[in-house]
Amino acid sequence: MSDRIGFIGLGNMGRGMASNLCRKGFSLTVFDINPVPMEALRQLGARVAAGVSGVAEASDLVITMLPDSAALERVAFGSDGVLERLAAGGLFMDMSTVDPLVTDRVAAEASREGIEFVDAPVGRLAAHAARGESLFMVGADAATFTRVRPLLDAMGTTVHHCGGVGTGIRTKLVNNYLSIVSCAFNAEAVALSQKFGLSLENTLEVIHGTTATNGQLKMAWATKVFRGDTEPGFSIDLAHKDLTLIVNAANALHVPMPIGAIARESFNAARTQGYGAKDFSAMGDLQCELAHVARPRLP
Ligand code: NAD
Repeated sequence: MSDRIGFIGLGNMGRGMASNLCRKGFSLTVFDINPVPMEALRQLGARVAAGVSGVAEASDLVITMLPDSAALERVAFGSDGVLERLAAGGLFMDMSTVDPLVTDRVAAEASREGIEFVDAPVGRLAAHAARGESLFMVGADAATFTRVRPLLDAMGTTVHHCGGVGTGIRTKLVNNYLSIVSCAFNAEAVALSQKFGLSLENTLEVIHGTTATNGQLKMAWATKVFRGDTEPGFSIDLAHKDLTLIVNAANALHVPMPIGAIARESFNAARTQGYGAKDFSAMGDLQCELAHVARPRLP
């Protein structure tokens, strides 16, 4: 018999991921503190639970896609949490981007309860998640990896088994360091181009033909801020959260990360300017605002 799947956290990413599982025939029970995405999942055939415990008790395998470490701790621990309510022999797969030390604690507690644990954070954007084209970085032992593989294949196109439990989330932090920091320097470059009075189209054509280009500029900004769309996607609040996780992890391990620290403060400043809920490509708009020049838009 195939696993009954529970899915908790139906935000910009989780909603698309859970929808793909539903469409591809998995039996799903879902919960989010926001009722709106639950209704969308119900219409795709998912059962809607009244809370975390309802998901855990109805499932063999529970997936979480939550904003941050605090939300994961609330959902994992406690008398109504996943670890208390999921039966022994169950599997808990966290796909959120969280503090690796919290991942380690959830994994250790799961092991004490006889529950298998996988960390499988997600790469690429919300639009990819909606289309079932995500990338996954998986930390799991070999047998557990085999058990979750069909789910990952239903939600994405690229699966990397990074090693044992905890390696997925650590790989994700290294990946996000580059993708988020590149938004900070893209913003500065674009503001300078605007102030010079250059054609954004021409400037980008030059950049994409040299080593100066990067994935954010090419894959994300081209469809977001340059088109005037700053709805998140991936919010500046979440980017700031990730840079904080990254810089803290680096500090704890005595890895100097001066550029990461400066970028984190740029994102922090963006939050104080009211940009927290915007897409992280909106760093381009903020930098142009600070330089008193037109926002970067393609025709
Ligand atoms: P989001 O804020 O859009 O969604 C989080 C969802 O979790 C919300 O719907 C919220 O209501 C729900 N939630 C919060 N606390 C809850 C609780 N206690 N019980 C049930 N539901 C709860 O965030 P997102 O953009 O979907 O990102 C989710 C995670 O994935 C984050 O860790 C983020 O860093 C990571 N991530 C995001 C992207 C992206 O492009 N958006 C890409 C890769 C990874």
